[in-house]
Amino acid sequence: MRPRVGRTSGLPWPRKGEGIVDLLRKDRLSAGVGEMMRRYRLIAPLERDGELRFDIVESPDKVTLDYYNTVKAPKSAFFPQAECMMRFGRQLGHFNQVEEVPLDETPTVLLGVRPCDARSFLLLDAIFARGPFLDPYYRARRQNTVVVSLACTKPRQTCFCHAFGSGPEDPEGSDLLLRDAGDAYLVQAVSERGKALLDELGPGLGLEKADDAHIAMAEATRQAAQSRLVAIEPVTGIEAILAGLFDSGVWAEISEKCLACGTCTYTCPTCHCFRIEDMVRAHDGERLRAWDSCMYEIFTKHASGHNPRPDQAARWRQRTMHKFEYLPRNVGRYGCVGCGRCILACPVRMDIRQVLDRVRREAAQQVEVEA
Ligand code: SF4
Ligand code: SF4
Repeated sequence: MRPRVGRTSGLPWPRKGEGIVDLLRKDRLSAGVGEMMRRYRLIAPLERDGELRFDIVESPDKVTLDYYNTVKAPKSAFFPQAECMMRFGRQLGHFNQVEEVPLDETPTVLLGVRPCDARSFLLLDAIFARGPFLDPYYRARRQNTVVVSLACTKPRQTCFCHAFGSGPEDPEGSDLLLRDAGDAYLVQAVSERGKALLDELGPGLGLEKADDAHIAMAEATRQAAQSRLVAIEPVTGIEAILAGLFDSGVWAEISEKCLACGTCTYTCPTCHCFRIEDMVRAHDGERLRAWDSCMYEIFTKHASGHNPRPDQAARWRQRTMHKFEYLPRNVGRYGCVGCGRCILACPVRMDIRQVLDRVRREAAQQVEVEA
């Protein structure tokens, strides 16, 4: 099949002369950020130690919205890299003391999220906030957060959201979506929660009704962003291909240069495996939950010393199968949104797009051999 640029899914954007959309002048952005900070905990991209990362905003002029994407994903707003689940201690002559940590229900606005990362929250919701096993820590933060996304104007060569039928202005997973329109942003409410935020903040933001000239400018920006996307095979159907490759030797070849550093999983917006450890001091301690990585040897090592995933080939098979076969089968979503972070961050330039291509070739070769 010829590689192609996928279509963009989600709500239709108003075109010139259609629909109702608000306009936020960029010279009012700082005042708008200040307004959000007064009412909410605001988390947005900030430059810290030479790196752009999502963090709590302390000063409106530190917010950076003109960026490609952050090194680490904004999932930490709901699922921090490390969090305390409870504290315990012992007082002489008394029983053990256990202190629960209150859930974080602080009303929050998460600003400046890229559309791929906004879609990653829907996968995390399926894991932590649906079905029989509900995660109270994740749910408390998620339920109290409004996601304000910003459409991409400059997708990177490593971006492949379009392989999933998405695109640089996909509103799925966002509550509000901003689109660049020159000296202003077009603002559209995607969910009821986003609409409520606009109703609350609208007067303070100085929103105007978008005019045709700004809608046309946003459309030109969208087309320019779309044209930067590299042609790629759609991911749809990869799960059926993977199902026949569990015992294939292709995983040894794919994983050969992997260093097992775990960087790919720590930067990924959809990876969600964690471990729980008790950090014990002389008379007290904490139970912590922290991100973990299936790329590590110890990840599946049993206390007996047996390891059901004994080598990097088995670990790379797990990473690929989990994202592209088990998750779509179990929760109806891929465990990848095409953000390209793992490609950029990997020290040996492992490229998950090439892994999928290699998997497709392997399956095609098997079919030829059997025919
Ligand atoms: S970042 Fe690269 S080298 Fe490190 S574990 Fe992932 S694939 Fe392997
Ligand atoms: S697997 Fe790589 S490209 Fe896909 S969502 Fe994770 S970091 Fe992004």
